[in-house]
Amino acid sequence: MSHCALHISGARLQYVSELMEIYVTRFSAWALAKNALTGNKGWTNQWRKPDPKPEYDAIIVGGGGHGLATAYYLAKEHGMRNIAVLEKGWIGGGNVGRNTTIVRSNYELRHNALFYEHSMKLWEGLSRELNYNVMFSQRGVLNLAHSPEELDAHAIRGNAMRLNGVDAELLDRDEVQKFVPQLDMSRDTRFPVHGGLLQPRAGTARHDAIAWGFARAADKLGVDIIENCQVTGFLKDGDQIIGVKTSRGEIKAKKTAVAVAGSTSEVMRLAGIKKLPIESHVLQAFVTEGLKPAVNTVVTGGGGHFYMSQSDKGGLVFGGEIDKYNSYAQRGNLPVVEDVTTIMLALFPQFAKVRLLRHWGGIMDMSMDGSPIITKGPLPGMYLNAGWCYGGFKATPASGWCFAYTIANDEPHSLNAPFRLDRFSKAYSIDERGAGPWAKLH
Ligand SMILES: Cc1cc2nc3c(=O)[nH]c(=O)nc-3n(C[C@H](O)[C@H](O)[C@H](O)COP(=O)(O)OP(=O)(O)OC[C@H]3O[C@@H](n4cnc5c(N)ncnc54)[C@H](O)[C@@H]3O)c2cc1C
Repeated sequence: MSHCALHISGARLQYVSELMEIYVTRFSAWALAKNALTGNKGWTNQWRKPDPKPEYDAIIVGGGGHGLATAYYLAKEHGMRNIAVLEKGWIGGGNVGRNTTIVRSNYELRHNALFYEHSMKLWEGLSRELNYNVMFSQRGVLNLAHSPEELDAHAIRGNAMRLNGVDAELLDRDEVQKFVPQLDMSRDTRFPVHGGLLQPRAGTARHDAIAWGFARAADKLGVDIIENCQVTGFLKDGDQIIGVKTSRGEIKAKKTAVAVAGSTSEVMRLAGIKKLPIESHVLQAFVTEGLKPAVNTVVTGGGGHFYMSQSDKGGLVFGGEIDKYNSYAQRGNLPVVEDVTTIMLALFPQFAKVRLLRHWGGIMDMSMDGSPIITKGPLPGMYLNAGWCYGGFKATPASGWCFAYTIANDEPHSLNAPFRLDRFSKAYSIDERGAGPWAKLH
């Protein structure tokens, strides 16, 4: 009798301690309070540091936002658990941690609108889904129009967005002034404001939190996240890809997926794919010293060559165009600094004395039509996710979701079926507002 009572209380104890473990290691008000009272010693590592196994069901090359999201949705939605993400550096060191954090779905072409709107909906539930505050702030994205013709173009895009179920509001000059009072609204400036297109549900998110949140959630589902593991070649059986060679040894895989963004051409060359409709370019980002709250939305202007928001720490975060030459260097050049700051000061002259704190660059995988590639192939056993241009951060959840579907089912979801590689050879390009590397050429 007493033995039985002990047994039950032992099981209960174990149950209680498991519950405690869940509540203390999950992020919650309870875990915060408990750790605050116990010297913050209860937090565990965000993800494990496993050694690579000799073989996996699926390998994802590239531990950026897209690779990590893919691993998470493969495990969560498709029940695959024997998965590894191989990252040559550290999690968050690529573009996922280098971007200007703008999240929007204000696309004109239907395929892009549906895909990015799916992403927006995933963003809206992401903090809860990942149990990680990704600081998604739906403060709106306002595209300024600097001429009546540009306002017409914005109206056409806004109407297309609405037809595709995406929120859009066309603002006249007075409404823009009311929404962003800091803008210079004089009529004789370099960029006079005629109105703007607002997507109210768009905004910004914390880029590191996306990398860490997906990594942590994927790890909890059993995914091995292996940092400092560079893929240096592919294992092949004829044309079939059967795994990878890495700086930490050979690893076999039933399915090998590549999601390396700016390094796509280099990595695919290792598999013998010598030509892709992708060019690598540098894009820079800038951040100023912290200011009191000054700009409460994301503003884009200067003919689309400038975008800016204010971070929660107070810095103005802004960027412009690519540097316009091919490069794999994660740093940019001074002419772009001059171009971007010139537009910024034309729109917001009062920021002339704000000090620039730092600027950096990332390598962009610019596709020739400005739209992404999420596909099975191009070799058997292989899957490719690339071509994100300036806009892959906002795509992260949908990209991972669709890529995971494609890998698990060996066929694309209807959302990413149009983003196949052979669209370039079959003249089915999705030429979104000429957003590829040489916008004026197409
Ligand atoms: C300055 C700048 C501003 C931007 N602003 C925005 C924005 O406001 N909104 C937006 O939506 N998008 C923006 N982007 C684009 C966005 O950041 C990228 O499109 C997106 O992050 C790319 O996907 P990723 O996160 O998977 O890439 P990455 O984080 O670059 O991930 C790819 C990973 O692959 C790894 N890798 C490469 N080669 C190998 C190898 N051989 N073996 C193993 N691993 C390898 C890399 O180390 C890297 O970690 C911006 C980009 C930059 C640079």
